[in-house]
Amino acid sequence: MTRSNDMEELIETVAEFIVRARRIVVFTGAGASTESGIADFRSRGGIWDKYNPEDFYFQKFLTNEESREKYWQMSTEVYESLKKAKPNPVHLAIAELEKLDKLDCIITQNIDGLHHKAGNSREKIIELHGTALSVSCLSCRRKYDRDEVQQRILNGVKVPRCDDCEGLLKPDTISFGQAMPERETNQAYDRSFGSDLFIVVGSSLVVQPAAYIPLRAKQGGAKLVIINRDPTPHDGYADIVINGSAGEIMTQILGKVRGKMGNS
Ligand code: NAD
Repeated sequence: MTRSNDMEELIETVAEFIVRARRIVVFTGAGASTESGIADFRSRGGIWDKYNPEDFYFQKFLTNEESREKYWQMSTEVYESLKKAKPNPVHLAIAELEKLDKLDCIITQNIDGLHHKAGNSREKIIELHGTALSVSCLSCRRKYDRDEVQQRILNGVKVPRCDDCEGLLKPDTISFGQAMPERETNQAYDRSFGSDLFIVVGSSLVVQPAAYIPLRAKQGGAKLVIINRDPTPHDGYADIVINGSAGEIMTQILGKVRGKMGNS
């Protein structure tokens, strides 16, 4: 593993990896979106400084009205910042990888829809933890627009229920203790195994099973690059680790790639 003592050299090496690669998978976490103004979970000032993760287990949501109220309070607050957020240089750099025909797919733990807003095509984005932009009834599966449900909460409803069947409404995101979406999870494992370059951007790599996915890429023979502000438990498996602002680093990498591919 090479660490960021000579940033310039590491950026150059990653750009070289990208130019040579044919099937790049980019894996993003909450740190890819902090520069868009959306707090991550674990950093200082992040969501877990304000709320207790223990309150947000799926089982509690199913069984306890007070937990549901807390969930909607937290989720409503987070959605207000998601709605306003715009793609930042991380998302734009990844969108450029698709334009350069280098991107196999993005596997994202994020629920903010910013890869779509940045211009990546829908079929290239695997949302492992779902999306906050829609809501479903847990009983009859009727879908609701998030803005409509958000308005109900802002009008004073504490726990919204389905108009058709009175079932519990919940955003289409995966909570702790809730099953991962099978299709997306299988796709993520397969595409990672088949990739030749796997780039992690802005993830603490501690949430399972998502955190195992980079190791799957490594087993398939891919080079592994980790770009994150803080160290992660998987740094030892990486070919390159760059610690710093994901926006700055991705912008510099793409600048070099453009130069090398003669598109600047
Ligand atoms: P995390 O909060 O556990 O870790 C984020 C990591 O990003 C940290 O290690 C931090 O050092 C790094 N980071 C923060 N800002 C950075 C920046 N500007 N540049 C580089 N690195 C930066 O997040 P996670 O690993 O993605 O997993 C936690 C869960 O959080 C996921 O399940 C995800 O669904 C959820 N989440 C999503 C959003 C979102 O959609 N934007 C926001 C908060 C949490």
